[in-house]
Amino acid sequence: MSAPRLDRIEVTGIRAWGHHGVLAEEKRIGQEFVVDVTLHLSTAPAGRADALSRTVNYAEIAHAVHEEILGGPHDLVETLAEHIAERILSDTGRPLVRRAEVRVHKPAAPVGLPVGDVTVSIQREAAPVEAVLALGTNLGDREEHLRAALAQLAGTEGIEIAWTGPVLETAPVGGPDGQGAFLNSVLGVRTQLGPFALLEAAQAAEHAARRERLVRWGPRTLDVDVITYGDWTSQDETLTVPHPRAHQRAFVLAPWHAARPDAELPGHGPIAALLRRAADRDGLRDGPAIEGYGLS
Ligand code: AMP
Repeated sequence: MSAPRLDRIEVTGIRAWGHHGVLAEEKRIGQEFVVDVTLHLSTAPAGRADALSRTVNYAEIAHAVHEEILGGPHDLVETLAEHIAERILSDTGRPLVRRAEVRVHKPAAPVGLPVGDVTVSIQREAAPVEAVLALGTNLGDREEHLRAALAQLAGTEGIEIAWTGPVLETAPVGGPDGQGAFLNSVLGVRTQLGPFALLEAAQAAEHAARRERLVRWGPRTLDVDVITYGDWTSQDETLTVPHPRAHQRAFVLAPWHAARPDAELPGHGPIAALLRRAADRDGLRDGPAIEGYGLS
């Protein structure tokens, strides 16, 4: 998976009196430690909407770093740096921060000579996240929409297709009368994108299908929804995860179950049980074979 281009938030000069060091004197008396952190994430979703909930709160990061300096004590500055990176990626900055750079300064380190500063700098990546996307189309060249969406998502930096469900043809649920049947499928992706950046990638695939509509043969739609993003949950109206209706929709659950029978929907349990209860499960038929779909 190629790494996505990310923006940076930097917080520098977070200072506190810590007790890290190999020497007993260092543990007893302590000294000043100074930490700089650089958070790599996609800031566009927050910047476009002016929404703090879509970015990382740098005050929380600074407080977490401060606590880590006060914690331990560790023998090594290296250990302090690891703890800070882990705390950012697995806790305070999760899942938005995809890479953390941490620089720990120990300006009064007991070197036995006058030195300007001693620093340790590390860079750590967040683990890729397994996410599930659902695709549906009922207008125009439906097969081409699904093919194009898969190709576009597979070519998106930071997205790797892990598996694909089979294509099913499903009767429309809700919406205006007289709509044509849908082709639906589900993709499992491993992604280095944050959740809002993944939604933007899904919307870019939708927009590509709609752009085509303007210049070719009339209306067509493609919906690409984010069903899950690891075990992360969000009530943000721009990105509600797990998708609020996925647990009752056979056109999502059935292709997902065909590819990953043991999967669970966070907060709702095994998808096998959800599928048995889904009201629209009788409206499903096998869809056409489309290259790239139905790969476990
Ligand atoms: P629709 O075209 O009906 O799928 O709705 C798209 C709208 O739902 C957009 O404004 C999205 O920001 C919002 N939305 C909220 N949660 C999700 C989700 N999990 N996946 C896709 N769109 C979502």
